[in-house]
Amino acid sequence: VPKSDASPKQSEDLRSPICCIMGHVDTGKTKLLDCIRGTNVQEGEAGGITQQIGATYFPAANIRERTKELKADATLKVPGLLVIDTPGHESFTNLRSRGSGLCDIAILVVDIMHGLEPQTIESLNLLKMRKTEFIIALNKVDRLYDWKARRNSPIGMTLKKQTKDVLSEFNRRVTHVITQFKEQGLNTELYYKNKEMGETFSIVPTSAVTGEGIPDLLLLLVQWTQKTMVEKLTFSDEVQCTVLEVKVIEGLGTTIDVVLVNGVLHEGDQIVGPIVTSIRALLTPHPMKEIRVKGAYMQHKEIKAAQGIKIAAQGLEHAIAGTSIYVVGPDDDLEDIKEAAKEDMQSVMSRIDKS
Ligand code: GDP
Repeated sequence: VPKSDASPKQSEDLRSPICCIMGHVDTGKTKLLDCIRGTNVQEGEAGGITQQIGATYFPAANIRERTKELKADATLKVPGLLVIDTPGHESFTNLRSRGSGLCDIAILVVDIMHGLEPQTIESLNLLKMRKTEFIIALNKVDRLYDWKARRNSPIGMTLKKQTKDVLSEFNRRVTHVITQFKEQGLNTELYYKNKEMGETFSIVPTSAVTGEGIPDLLLLLVQWTQKTMVEKLTFSDEVQCTVLEVKVIEGLGTTIDVVLVNGVLHEGDQIVGPIVTSIRALLTPHPMKEIRVKGAYMQHKEIKAAQGIKIAAQGLEHAIAGTSIYVVGPDDDLEDIKEAAKEDMQSVMSRIDKS
């Protein structure tokens, strides 16, 4: 494994917000993620987007570049945005229902042609239960009859180019979705008309095929999180780390893919999860490899939140997705931490049993 201490540039005191994508099957969750990643593939490294373990990292510079047509005051205080890659993942169901919540903000995807569907409501209930902020992406606007696409355009600019008939169909469908949300006890409004964000949830019309509305979605995600979650996003010394997946990797044994939500992890840190062990390697995918090759990981001495990382250590066989990893500090009582880890495991296990 090649060694490197390179870690992405971080702002002094704020970490990147973590975002996940939820919604009914076939609404375009995967396509949306591909779309926000894909636009910059052509621009190569300049886009600065990095593939992480279980997540994609969008640096602030990338977001600024892509949202410039919006001419918003794009003062970005956060270093970037970390989007979790696994919208339809099985282990994610467990993560989704976790009380602590891995994500700072969610994108709830709704298909404009279908409106609210059973899993939209399921996702909505999880978000409400967890009090997680979210933005609604009203996706597939390009499917409206006679839609004229303007690639990667802010939504306002593309709407201006549509015919009266398209606009009236658009408005009819938006109104219908707003009514459906109201039936679920939720006030929603098109984001550019929303004067009471926080009380009223914002709808961003998007197309994952044409990229329309994606600048709006990115800007809103970053602006809203940095405005309302300063405390949560303030960089902390305390490690907050959640297991996404447990995987056996040739040459590494059982590893865990984690999201480091806050704090810093170091090689050699004593960690408590299923057992007490120490971090043998902190790994991220090799940035030069477009297609992920087995064993093509970069090794880091330390990694700062928020990032998706693979951890290699002994005794991870019994790790469970959705549980937390605790780090034993010099002043910590190991028995207390072991107790906390045990309780965390049990609560996750009981949720798995129930589902
Ligand atoms: P997921 O199940 O929510 O992850 O949905 P997918 O991303 O797999 O998308 C389901 C289908 O809808 C695929 O055939 C996509 O190509 C298509 N799709 C997704 N987003 C859009 C969109 O914005 N416009 C159109 N026309 N099709 C879309």
